[in-house]
Amino acid sequence: SIEEEVDEEGDLQSRPPIVTVMGHVDHGKTSLLDYVRHANVIAGEAGGITQHIGAYNVKLDDGRRVSFLDTPGHEAFTAMRARGAQVTDIAIIIIAADDNVMPQTIEAINHASAAGVPIVFAINKIDKVGADPERIKSELANMNYLVEDWGGKYQCQEISAKNGVNIEELLEKVLLEAEMLELKANPNKRAIGSVIESSLDKGRGYVTTLLVQAGTLKVGDVLLAGSYTGHVKAMYNERGNKIDKVGPSEPALILGLNGAPQAGDNFHVLESEKDARGIANKREQLQREQGLRTQKH
Ligand code: GDP
Repeated sequence: SIEEEVDEEGDLQSRPPIVTVMGHVDHGKTSLLDYVRHANVIAGEAGGITQHIGAYNVKLDDGRRVSFLDTPGHEAFTAMRARGAQVTDIAIIIIAADDNVMPQTIEAINHASAAGVPIVFAINKIDKVGADPERIKSELANMNYLVEDWGGKYQCQEISAKNGVNIEELLEKVLLEAEMLELKANPNKRAIGSVIESSLDKGRGYVTTLLVQAGTLKVGDVLLAGSYTGHVKAMYNERGNKIDKVGPSEPALILGLNGAPQAGDNFHVLESEKDARGIANKREQLQREQGLRTQKH
C-alpha cells in the first residue's frame, strides 16, 4: 500500500486553481484556450507554447497563476472523474451568445455541479451580429442558474474569445472564485497527482503529462502511475523547456514510464523502485482478474 505523508497545518501553501473549459461544440472552447495560452506566454521566454501537452499554466502580470486543463472537453472530465480523479477546481462553461444553451451545455453544467465544482459562465462571441447575452442569461435563469448581474450567485463574463475581448476580466472572476476556495497544498513532500494524457513516442518512449496536486515532482523521482513505473528521466513544460521540478497545480510532460497510464489514473512518488514495481504488479494482476471475470459473464 502507499503511505501518504500527513500534512501539518503549517505545511500548506496556497496553490493556483486548476480550471477546465466546457461547453457545446463550436461555442468557442478551443478559441478561449488558445487565446489564453498565447496571450500569457511569459515575457522574455523563448518560443511560446510549442506543444500540446494537455495542460498548461499561465501567469498574470501580477504574478498570480492559473492552470488550464486543455483536454477535449467534458469527455476527458468525465473519464477522469470515473477513475475518481478530482482534478478540476473551477469549470468555465462557455456559451455562444448567438446560439442557445444547448444539450451539451446542460450536460457540462450538470457534470460540474455533480462534482461540486464551482462554475463561472463565459458568454462568448459578443462581437457577432445577433449576439444576445441577455437571452443566454435568461435561459440560465430558467434553469435556476442565476448570474450575478441578475441578482444570482454565478459569476458570468461576456467575452469574445476570437478577439481577446474581456479575457482578463474572465480570469479575474476565476481567480476571485479560487480565492473563496482557499486552495492549498503542501509543496514540501513527495509528489502526488493525476495523469492527464500519455502516449508512445517513436523517439522518446512513453511521454506522459502529469498534473501535480501536492508535493514537488523532481527529475530522478521514482514514479508509480496507474500500473506503470519508472524514474522521471526528463521533464518539460508546455513551452518545451527542460525543467527539473514542478510544484502543486503545475503540469509537466515527463519521460521514463514503462507504459502509458490512462487519463485520470493517479500517480505517486515512492521511495524505491522495488516498492513501485510491487504495487504496479499487484494492480496489473487485479486488472487481469477483473478482465477474466467480465469475460466469463
Ligand atoms: P469549440 O468547438 O468549442 O472548441 O469552438 P471553437 O473555438 O473551435 O470555435 C468554433 C468557431 O467559432 C470557430 O470558427 C471560431 O473561430 C469561432 N469563434 C470562437 N469564438 C469566437 C468569438 O468570440 N467571436 C466570433 N465571431 N467567432 C468565434
